[in-house]
Amino acid sequence: MTALTALSDDERLFQQSVYEFAIREIRPLVREMDEHAKIPRILIDRLFALGVMGIEVPEIHGGAAASFFHAVLAVEAISRVDPSIGVLVDVQNTLVINALLRWGSEDVQRRFLPRLAAGTVGAYALSEAGSGSDAFALSARAVADGDGWILTGRKLWITNANEADVFIVFANADPSAGYHGISAFIVERGLAGFSVGRKEDKLGIRASSTCELLLDGCRVPRANVLGDVGKGYKVAIETLNEGRIGIGAQMIGLAAGALQHTVAYVKERKQFGKAIGEFQAVQHQIARAATDVEAARLMVYNAARLRDGGLPFLSEAAMAKLFASETAERVSSLAVNLFGGYGFVKDYPVEKLYRDAKIGQIYEGTSNLQLQTIAKHALG
Ligand SMILES: Cc1cc2nc3c(=O)[nH]c(=O)nc-3n(C[C@H](O)[C@H](O)[C@H](O)COP(=O)(O)OP(=O)(O)OC[C@H]3O[C@@H](n4cnc5c(N)ncnc54)[C@H](O)[C@@H]3O)c2cc1C
Repeated sequence: MTALTALSDDERLFQQSVYEFAIREIRPLVREMDEHAKIPRILIDRLFALGVMGIEVPEIHGGAAASFFHAVLAVEAISRVDPSIGVLVDVQNTLVINALLRWGSEDVQRRFLPRLAAGTVGAYALSEAGSGSDAFALSARAVADGDGWILTGRKLWITNANEADVFIVFANADPSAGYHGISAFIVERGLAGFSVGRKEDKLGIRASSTCELLLDGCRVPRANVLGDVGKGYKVAIETLNEGRIGIGAQMIGLAAGALQHTVAYVKERKQFGKAIGEFQAVQHQIARAATDVEAARLMVYNAARLRDGGLPFLSEAAMAKLFASETAERVSSLAVNLFGGYGFVKDYPVEKLYRDAKIGQIYEGTSNLQLQTIAKHALG
């Protein structure tokens, strides 16, 4: 019997090297990136050099040929330090590369995977202003045109859009067929009629770019259709089912980071003549937070290992994302409380983690939508 959290030598070394990288290369930049809402390109280049931007990409395409579980470990380790960088790595691996590995033809994989493993950032564009939870009500249109497609519409909330050169974009070629009209297209920055629009000014994960995409008669070659025409809904559902395990990983990293800062602080901070960590009330609060983090981590690791093992994981992934994101909010909120006034200012890291936690309950399916999935399975 192996514990879910027991890592193989390879997994442990990988996790350790990513965490050490995060401490060394990311931590010094966290405050500035949050303030300026920007990730320096040099840091992105270092993430590529570290090998965390093409984790599952096969070696023949220049990737690390590792597992989905490795991606979860990387996102968790990075998010302990900065969940904004965590989501950059997460979207690249669990959505974009994952979709290309699963649905890309040999030609698509040969053209895009080496670039994505070597230096090109990817983005995943499903949501629109009018279609979020009801994602398949999207209004972006695709019209066949000779040996290509013309895309028109707008996408909203697209993570990595500022840094990305490759975008997976969903559009409907046959609205009368409902979601059966949806296809996934690979759109490259620089194509005529395609541009990245306004960048959102956000509450949390501020360094991660979130932008609008404008498609104004953008012509995409037929060879850039990802998966079958009319099967885009399957591409979207199946990648998001897996992707949300990555958001769970981001949230357990965030919660573990907040807890770690808090444990150090309560040992140092003295009131009434002793460290506040000596008060039993505080000890119990820390104990609850540690229990939450442990439970959330077990759920996320379990979902990831089920996925890698080819076993059903849908309900487990939804539960993991739901619980991990609620844990992140609870634990980072406790962290702010236990830092007292110092938790409310930007000189200490917990204020930012508290702001960052909120997104976990919104993107890749809100908590209500996760509950819907869980209920469907629970009620048969
Ligand atoms: C920072 C950020 C990054 C993002 N990155 C991406 C990205 O890279 N790619 C992408 O495609 N999208 C992205 N999104 C979009 C994100 O996935 C959506 O915001 C999310 O799915 C919710 O959609 P909505 O905002 O339209 O909210 P709505 O769908 O309007 O939901 C509003 C509220 O209504 C509730 N609700 C809706 N329907 C139901 C229902 N049937 N039952 C019960 N409650 C319901 C929701 O739970 C929520 O509380 C991002 C969003 C943000 C904020």
